[in-house]
Amino acid sequence: MPRPIINADECSACGICVDACEQGVLDIVNNVAAPVNEDACNACGDCMEECPMGAIDEIEED
Ligand code: SF4
Ligand code: SF4
Repeated sequence: MPRPIINADECSACGICVDACEQGVLDIVNNVAAPVNEDACNACGDCMEECPMGAIDEIEED
């Protein structure tokens, strides 16, 4: 199961990834982007591509 990993130190809480994710996986929580609906992630990569800070990575999990 893929899931996005947000580097909180690099995140500016701009919200672009939240808007970019059509699956509703991401939200801003405590002033940082966070996966709130991880199971819905389809590994499309849109959040990573749109993040201006390069703060998002994605990892594969079984
Ligand atoms: S697009 Fe990047 S910098 Fe903006 S909220 Fe998402 S992770 Fe943070
Ligand atoms: S990889 Fe795609 S589905 Fe997964 S969190 Fe990012 S934008 Fe959403």
